[in-house]
Amino acid sequence: MWTELGLDLEAHDALLGVLGQAYGDIFLSQKNRPDGMGYFDFVMSEVHGLRIRELLDEKEAGRKIIGSYCVFVPEEIALAANATLVGLCSGADFAMEDVERILPRNTCALIKSSFGFKLGKVCPYLESADMIVGENTCDGKKKAYESLGHLVENLYVMDLPQVKSANGKALLKSEFQRFKTAVEQLTGVSITVESLQQAIKTVNAKRAAMHRLSSLRKSDPVTISGLDALLANQVFFYDNPARFTESVNKICDELEKRIAVNDGVFPARTPRILISGCPQAVPNWKLPWIIETSGAVIVGEESCVGERGTRNLTDDSGTTIDTMLDALVDRYFQVDCAIFTPNHERLDHIQEMVTDYRADGVIHYGLQFCQPYLMESMPVEKALEQKDIPCLRIETDYSMEDVGQLKTRVEAFIEQLR
Ligand code: SF4
Ligand code: SF4
Repeated sequence: MWTELGLDLEAHDALLGVLGQAYGDIFLSQKNRPDGMGYFDFVMSEVHGLRIRELLDEKEAGRKIIGSYCVFVPEEIALAANATLVGLCSGADFAMEDVERILPRNTCALIKSSFGFKLGKVCPYLESADMIVGENTCDGKKKAYESLGHLVENLYVMDLPQVKSANGKALLKSEFQRFKTAVEQLTGVSITVESLQQAIKTVNAKRAAMHRLSSLRKSDPVTISGLDALLANQVFFYDNPARFTESVNKICDELEKRIAVNDGVFPARTPRILISGCPQAVPNWKLPWIIETSGAVIVGEESCVGERGTRNLTDDSGTTIDTMLDALVDRYFQVDCAIFTPNHERLDHIQEMVTDYRADGVIHYGLQFCQPYLMESMPVEKALEQKDIPCLRIETDYSMEDVGQLKTRVEAFIEQLR
């Protein structure tokens, strides 16, 4: 299967070894995890196994695979045209020497990782994709896609608005229409009212399951660790949607029973942290692992791999393609990514999440060289200070070199919350 995809077998095995080791050390060592996490352990153990086999079987049956790097790419449109959308994770350093021959050193780890996975030939998702969707979000991605276009065969770039104006919304609508046409051309399948309605329902169900899981994290004691909840948020991007929804709802049933008997994974009154900022893609578990082994529990992620990506559902009552596209635009236009200016909604959402999840403090997670989120971390800190909400700003990358220093800072912050 790997040769079929043109992967570098040695490099791929090395990556899997590191991934498996990290997963075992971080996730499997947790105590009293919900039984339902067994599904996600299985998914992770088969992330480069059965799931890829499934995708290759889908391809053989004529279905197209679309890879994406951003929550702005509407899965609904892909599904409605009988394609499968998978998130391309970009959460680990790989082939960095090769990457830095193409990209400046001071590029964020997420962008470098996406190139490293391609140059190192280690990502079966990337290699099985029939179309890769990039988007003009931050400047780094925007310019990096010009180079990525020389490395991958079918790169499609979506132009995204940066201002939440009427013009911005019109641009998003026209880009969703253009994407619909491109996907229909790729698959040879015309989207119908019924297929789009069904796709909206499928993705809504997946997001609703994640909302349910998130709201169950409001309890004290907390019945699922932040690490496990992050894992569900990460798997959200590449699992089969219906199976994912069912598995998350099963965990929720279990958590409801645990809440009824106060069966937490951390003792009651453990300091509660909200993480806010850049997306944390698989296998980027460094900061959550530091936090949850330093005496605190993470109760929410204000992130695209978290509530920013799943917050809103799409109105599914449309009866024409055009009204449904409008509903999709209305839904996606609410995403409060830091590429927007101004971006007051994000500050409001962070404060709302602090209240809803009863967080004692916020850790703002910024990837080094990520201008949008690092710039916003200052107004975020200021807005939280005005409400007497403690905030720690962290700037890091994917390397493990700063673990000791980060742990010291995180422990001091948690001590202050007690
Ligand atoms: S942070 Fe912005 S650019 Fe990145 S995935 Fe989220 S919406 Fe897309
Ligand atoms: S983390 Fe920041 S710099 Fe990197 S791709 Fe996302 S928005 Fe751009």
